Amino acid sequence: MSRFPRPDYQSLDLYAPDRRPVALDLADNTNRWGPHPGAVTAVRAADDDTYTRYPYLYANDLRDAIVRRYGVPADSITTGCGSDDVLDSAFRAAAPEGGTVTFAGPSFSMVEPFANMNGRRAVEIPWSRALADPETLLAGDPVLVYVCRPNNPTGESAPRAWIDALLAAVARRGGPLVILDEAYADFAPESLLAEAPTIPHLLVTRTLSKAFGLAGFRVGFAVGTPVVAREVEKSRGPYKVSRIAERAAVAALDDEDGWVTRTTLEAVENRAKLFAALQERGLRPIPSCANFLLFQVPDGSARAWNDALRAQGVAIRPFPACPDVGDAMRVTVAPWPMMERFLDALDTVLAEGSAPAPPGARAPDRKAAE
Ligand SMILES: *Cc1c(COP(=O)(O)O)cnc(C)c1O
Repeated sequence: MSRFPRPDYQSLDLYAPDRRPVALDLADNTNRWGPHPGAVTAVRAADDDTYTRYPYLYANDLRDAIVRRYGVPADSITTGCGSDDVLDSAFRAAAPEGGTVTFAGPSFSMVEPFANMNGRRAVEIPWSRALADPETLLAGDPVLVYVCRPNNPTGESAPRAWIDALLAAVARRGGPLVILDEAYADFAPESLLAEAPTIPHLLVTRTLSKAFGLAGFRVGFAVGTPVVAREVEKSRGPYKVSRIAERAAVAALDDEDGWVTRTTLEAVENRAKLFAALQERGLRPIPSCANFLLFQVPDGSARAWNDALRAQGVAIRPFPACPDVGDAMRVTVAPWPMMERFLDALDTVLAEGSAPAPPGARAPDRKAAE
C-alpha cells in the first residue's frame, strides 16, 4: 500500500522568503522601472477570448516572438509559467526519479527545492572548487548539472572557457543535461542562448521576470537542441502560459518602444554607481554582471542587517552563511532615487550601529561632504 504523505516530502517545506510589506522592496531583483508600456497596452486591448478560451497548448505566439528576438529555431524553444516552471520541468525530464543534481554554490535558492520535489538530491559544490575544475560538478555521476550565469546571488559570471570545458566533459561522457540559468543574461556582456540549439546536453533558461518587467505574469523560456526542448515540453505539459501573460510577453519581447533596452542600460549604469557608493562606505561588493550587488557583512549578522534595514523601510535579501562568502546581503539595482533611498537607510544603520558593521565600513561624513 502506498503511503501518504510521501515519506520523501516530510523534510520539504513551503518556500517562505521574508515577504512582509515594506516601503521600498529591493529584495527580489524584479524590474523596478515599472511595467513595460507595450505590455500594458497589449493587456488593455485583450479580447473576450483572452478570458474565456484556453491558451495555446505550447505558447505558439510566445515562441514566435522568441524566434523574432533571438533568431533561434522554433523547435529549439520550450516555455513555461516562469522560468521556475521550465527549471522544474527540466529537473523532471533529465532522468527517471532519483540521483543527484550538482550545482556550484552559493546559487539560486530554488535548486534544492526543485531537486527534492522531483525525487532528487541537490549537491552543492563551492564555486571556488567548481571554478578550479568544472569536472568536480560531474563527480558522483549526477543526473543534472545546474549553473547560473551570471550567478544569483553573487552576480559573478563563470568564464566562457570554463563553460566550454564543462560542456566538453559532458559531451565526452554523453551526459548529463546541463542547465545554464541565464535569468540575468540581459544585464551581462554575453550569453550562450544563440548557440544552444546546436549544443547537445545544454538547456539555456531565461525569464521575463527581471529585465522584461513581467514577474507578475510568470513567463519563462529555454533554448536547447530540438531533442532537449521536446523532452522538457513533454515534462512541462500543455496550457502553462495563460493568454493574458502571452500577450504581455510578446509585446515585451518585441519591445517596439525600446523600453527593455533603455531600462537595462540604466540598470547597468546604476550598478556601477551603486558599486562605487558601497565601496565609498568601506563595503566590498562583488563585481556583478546582473541587476543586483552582493556585499559581505560580518558572519552571523545577515538577519540583523535584514531587520535593521527593514526598520528603515527598505528590504534587501539576506544570505546567511554562503559558501566562499559567509554572511552577505543582496540589493536589487533600481532607478537612482530608489538607490539613494537605500543608501540613506544603509548610512543610518552604519551610523547607529543597529547591525554589526564589516571592518572598515562607515557612513560617509555628510557634514564634510556638504
Ligand atoms: C528570478 C530567477 C528565476 C525565476 O524566474 P521566474 O521566471 O520568475 O520563475 C530563475 N533563476 C534565477 C537565477 C532567478 O534569480
